[in-house]
Amino acid sequence: MIITMNGEPAHILGMEFEYPNDPVPLNSPFYIDRPPIEELAYREIQKPGSVIRIRAPRKMGKSSLLQRILAYGKQNNYHVVNLDLRQTEASMLSDLNRFLRWFCAIVGHCLNLPSRLDDYWDEDIGSKVSCTIYLKYLLDLIDAPLIITINEVNYLFEYPQVAGEFLPMLRSWHEEARQSEEMQKLRLVMVHSTEVYIPLKLNQSPFNVGLPIRLPFFTPEQVKDLAKRHEIEDDDGNLVTDLMDMVGGHPYLVRLALYHLVVTDNNDHKSMGDRLQKILSEAYTQGGIYNQHLCEQLAILKEQPELLQILQAIVMSNEEITVEPIAAYKLESLGLVKLEGNQAIVSCQLYRQYFKYLHEKGIFNQYSRLHELESINQQLEKIANIDDLTQIPNRRFLFSYLEKQWQKHSQRGEVISLILCDIDCFKLYNDTYGHIAGDQCLQKVAKVMESSLHHPTDIVARYGGEELAIILPETTSTQALNLAQIIRKNIKLLKIVHEKSLCADKIITLSMGVASIIPKTHINHFYLMQAADEALYQSKNQGRDRITTKNLTISL
Ligand code: GH3
Ligand code: MG
Ligand code: MG
Repeated sequence: MIITMNGEPAHILGMEFEYPNDPVPLNSPFYIDRPPIEELAYREIQKPGSVIRIRAPRKMGKSSLLQRILAYGKQNNYHVVNLDLRQTEASMLSDLNRFLRWFCAIVGHCLNLPSRLDDYWDEDIGSKVSCTIYLKYLLDLIDAPLIITINEVNYLFEYPQVAGEFLPMLRSWHEEARQSEEMQKLRLVMVHSTEVYIPLKLNQSPFNVGLPIRLPFFTPEQVKDLAKRHEIEDDDGNLVTDLMDMVGGHPYLVRLALYHLVVTDNNDHKSMGDRLQKILSEAYTQGGIYNQHLCEQLAILKEQPELLQILQAIVMSNEEITVEPIAAYKLESLGLVKLEGNQAIVSCQLYRQYFKYLHEKGIFNQYSRLHELESINQQLEKIANIDDLTQIPNRRFLFSYLEKQWQKHSQRGEVISLILCDIDCFKLYNDTYGHIAGDQCLQKVAKVMESSLHHPTDIVARYGGEELAIILPETTSTQALNLAQIIRKNIKLLKIVHEKSLCADKIITLSMGVASIIPKTHINHFYLMQAADEALYQSKNQGRDRITTKNLTISL
């Protein structure tokens, strides 16, 4: 039942109250214009080749504004294509060629034009040029302007390689519109959440052309208007003041409070003012209406303990605080603080109360301690996997890495190679030059081996004593043999004198065993180790300073 301020049943029973989670429908009475942004957008969309960028934290009204721009375009008989990157498969977003073909296909489809993608797509000229040519072909076929809106552009930021090609291409279209008549028909609207800046290592918008529109909070007058549209009278203005104080004019948070005020049961016939007080007094708690919103904010901050700490300082301080600019920018992007000059202040009471509560419960500190522990663990893990003397991975790491690669390669049916290396006559070297010289020799050999590898997944590890092992994922036996030859040569180039060596050169040399295999899950990776060891043993037996290879096949 819906009750008005004096506890009487409302005469707004016939009115539909949509839950304010989704964009405000076009015909909804609850859309509040925020002058001048709507007019600005409508004017901009009429300009040839224009680009509008709408950015704001979540739930500030981006998609609602976007719908109105699209409706305005339709009214003016523009063609419209509305893309939402949430609906794009991840495999598409990670592959530039597929992504651009998808983009062109959708635009053509929405324009009801037959697809001629294959005629226009030319690998030799590249996918970006093909995409631009195809778009011009489409634009040439239509008379009216075309609005393409891209919502949730933030999804693309997770694929920096594709974003790094796609966004500059949009910028080039915008610039080309100065000369090209076809391109003038294009109007782009890009929409993204500013939360996306948080994990990104940057402090400015990744795409900065065209007209930027930042959605502001509601003013007290706008909140009053919205309350009125919910048939809530607020003659003394207390309701608006209290609500503004709690949620600072945040559109979604304001609407959520109004929604709960008019839609929830009021069996105890409390006045509207009392009911608002109840909602506000529970606002920051788990039972409060903002719990989900607050948890979402916290989830983002938990990933960034430094930000959490800075926010804690801001919340707990009674004075205004100067915050390091990038952190301030990120907290503002989340809508948590307002920046006034160099000072950051919490944007509303709701956040102040919630984060103060977390601080008092020690939850803030728990998170930063957790973060500290995680980084100590990472350090310990690193220490546990590195060989003290040579500072390359140790035997423990070698086996765990080999096991992981073994699994991966057996699933994919790909070849993996292993090289075992042993320094020739190393005991004699120690006996002649002493252990300290022996240690230094080992360090040099390890360093040269490491710098001879060029693929990021290749690793060299200390297998034991003066034996080193190299794991080469996705490497054929021929490629592994080539690398072994290079390493053997590089070690010789060190020219570490070893007068007592049984080998002809009288310098430090290596014997090596190379083995390659396409692994199978039912066979243990020791099989490969053993084969490389046998090959190494053969190199030793045949006079040292040489390489022996062994190709393995496993029958099913
Ligand atoms: P081969 O040519 O047959 O490989 O003979 P080798 O002397 O190199 O091999 P052997 O296995 O008989 O001896 C290995 C020697 O490596 C024994 C030890 O003195 C030396 N060694 C093992 N680990 C270290 C280390 O950490 N530092 C030093 N200086 N020497 C080591
Ligand atoms: Mg040995
Ligand atoms: Mg040896």
